[in-house]
Amino acid sequence: MPRFKRILLKLSGEILAGSKGYGIDEDVLNTLAAEIADVRKAGVEVGVVLGGGNIFRGLAAASRGMDRVAADYMGMLGTVINALAMQDTLEKKGVVTRVMTAIRMEEVAEPYIRRRALRHFEKGRTVIFAGGTGNPYFSTDTAAALRAIQMKADVIIKATSVDGIYTADPKKDRTATLYERLSYRDVIVQNLAVMDQTAITLCAENSLPLIVLNIQRRRAVADAICGARVGTIVQ
Ligand code: UDP
Repeated sequence: MPRFKRILLKLSGEILAGSKGYGIDEDVLNTLAAEIADVRKAGVEVGVVLGGGNIFRGLAAASRGMDRVAADYMGMLGTVINALAMQDTLEKKGVVTRVMTAIRMEEVAEPYIRRRALRHFEKGRTVIFAGGTGNPYFSTDTAAALRAIQMKADVIIKATSVDGIYTADPKKDRTATLYERLSYRDVIVQNLAVMDQTAITLCAENSLPLIVLNIQRRRAVADAICGARVGTIVQ
């Protein structure tokens, strides 16, 4: 039996890029969509926030001299590309979806209207939140925290390519060990690289639990929502 009624899943652009490191890897997209379809079959409502780092990173372009605001808008548009790709893949698997954008583009998708999004959940639709927060200088992690709070999600699940939160970057430091459980304060004070501080502060202020897990592990999300020990839980 799932222990959550509604979850918010955050998928970074890096995950979507797979081993290519850029753009969208269709095999990865299919695997992710299958995982979401399984979670839906278990009766859990799913909101998805997609990153855009596989297409464009505002901060990186700004550091090369581009105007930060323009660069960030490009980054946000990248998340819409990812959202449309995810929508198509999910619908092919029979998952009914709606894309809602934080920046209006009504020919492409619905604008984000909180009460409408809630109605979609009630009707069993999977909602993909695109366009980040709609504001430059923010991240899609912050968008995930915001949408999770606004949607009254029970948990935010951040999908990564490592098993959870470690003492150091496990891809660089072989002595790094995995935390099973952390407090928000631990993450903030130790500046653990899991989400930016704005996002984690929002989670803390609203007592929104966060699970960080390895999406490359089969059924990671499905197991986590059933209460299995998967990844790191921050609460
Ligand atoms: N972005 C933004 N405001 C937001 C969300 C995203 O300006 O609310 C821009 C920012 O430039 C960022 C890019 O969109 O670099 C892609 O988002 P992010 O880096 O969070 O994606 P991820 O790392 O999850 O792939």
